Amino acid sequence: MTAIVLLWPIFYHPNTYIPHIFIDTISSMRLYNTLTHQREILEPPHDGIVKIYCCGPTVYDFTHIGHLRKYTFDDVLVRTLKFFGHSVRHVINITDVGHLTDDGDNGTDKLEMGAIKTKKTVWEVADSYTKFFLDSLDAVGINRPDVLCKATDHIDEMITMIRALEANGYAYQTSEAVYFDTSKFAEYGALTGQKLSDKKNAVRDSVHTDLSKRHQADFALWFRKVGRFSDHAMSWESPWGVGFPGWHIECSAMSTKYLGDKIDIHTGGVDHIPVHHTNEIAQSECATGKKPFSRFWVHHNFLNVENQKMSKSLGNFLTIFDLKEKGYEPYSLKFLFLGTHYRSQMNFTWRGLDASQKRLKTLIKSYSSYQADGGDIDDKIVMLYRDKFAAALEDDLNTPSAIALFGSIIDDKNANNQTKKEIFDLLGSTLGIPFGRLAKNLESSSGASIPPNEVINILNERNVAKSQKDYQKSDHLREKLATMGYLVEDIKNGESKLIKINR
Ligand code: AMP
Ligand code: ZN
Repeated sequence: MTAIVLLWPIFYHPNTYIPHIFIDTISSMRLYNTLTHQREILEPPHDGIVKIYCCGPTVYDFTHIGHLRKYTFDDVLVRTLKFFGHSVRHVINITDVGHLTDDGDNGTDKLEMGAIKTKKTVWEVADSYTKFFLDSLDAVGINRPDVLCKATDHIDEMITMIRALEANGYAYQTSEAVYFDTSKFAEYGALTGQKLSDKKNAVRDSVHTDLSKRHQADFALWFRKVGRFSDHAMSWESPWGVGFPGWHIECSAMSTKYLGDKIDIHTGGVDHIPVHHTNEIAQSECATGKKPFSRFWVHHNFLNVENQKMSKSLGNFLTIFDLKEKGYEPYSLKFLFLGTHYRSQMNFTWRGLDASQKRLKTLIKSYSSYQADGGDIDDKIVMLYRDKFAAALEDDLNTPSAIALFGSIIDDKNANNQTKKEIFDLLGSTLGIPFGRLAKNLESSSGASIPPNEVINILNERNVAKSQKDYQKSDHLREKLATMGYLVEDIKNGESKLIKINR
């Protein structure tokens, strides 16, 4: 019998992957642009920095795994742009005021609703759910953006933008609010292709509408603290009296502040197309006079449960920590997401998650076995996979094709283990799957890891040689194991112990 004791060393840095081959090509990446309804080449921006704004969460309830699908793909998009050699400036906002329960101007502020539900102040609600959002991102290794900005920290910037809209003739006031006048902006609705005359807010009889609003599609830039909002907890002084900003203006104002008047990519869920993003375009282009506000509009499709959108308001959601509690590795969820294109709807099932976890574990175990072996990296093979990987990602972020490459690498008879490890690291770092760290986690969760078959076979061969008193052969095999990173220690009764060498 062979006792195996593995003392796992730290011989890699889990978070820092330094590619063996430096990639210096700016690719011709194609992304689907909702604005033009087609895939377009992302030409490098003039100043060399891709500016990307991603609509962030409304922090009145828990971040669920539906949100994580959206932020996983934002993260993969940013990592992919960097993989292709772009410099990137990435902004995510935190909506902590002004987002009403109806995406139009009806209903109540979601933060106020969260405060009633939790019996906390709106500020406490915002703080605790912002923390939960960031913890959720961390749990699945989604990188933090360059700028994470809260709406309530940017009231001045919003007021400045509303004043510009007023000065340019796009805003009007009623006793309740300051509105954007959609009839003044000829391109209003370009994102949906909907004509203004067709656009009606789905208003139920029971909900409030301001009768002085000129057109149903007009939307609030600033709500006065009057009438239904006279008890609104968050309010600020403004040229239009005490009140609070509408939801849409925050993204226009913060995007301008951190990325300038024109940006390259703006992302959000598909639910943002008809109202929030349509309104953002109107505000930004009319305030600055610069078009287009964003070159690309990238929209993510939903994660559903039982064919219904997973959402806070429907209460049918799961958080990443629910999954962890059930014993799932959080990256299994991320790996599951990568298997469906971001523009397709996806139905969450436990069976799907189980299958993803199994698949990911197989990859991690393969990766672990590659770590044990030396050998030189074959640059040609790395480049071959790098090109296939790039072709998949260039094609509107085709992650299902990208992850299919892992199977090909494992089966590739021409690649040695060191080369396979290199390719895993290259692909994993771009997709946000840190194989090195996951391998370490798997080892510590399962006690000692199982050495590669090759090592076990040599050890068995040595034991046989030893039992036949062929000491020359057994010494030779011991040295061979040492070069593979394993020390053999003979214990009693012909048993031997395998110790992983700390390199
Ligand atoms: P919210 O906090 O509801 O404003 O959502 C933040 C972002 O997550 C938005 O871009 C939403 O479109 C997106 N989102 C919300 N629910 C889901 C879901 N079930 N699947 C995918 N994305 C979602
Ligand atoms: Zn937004």
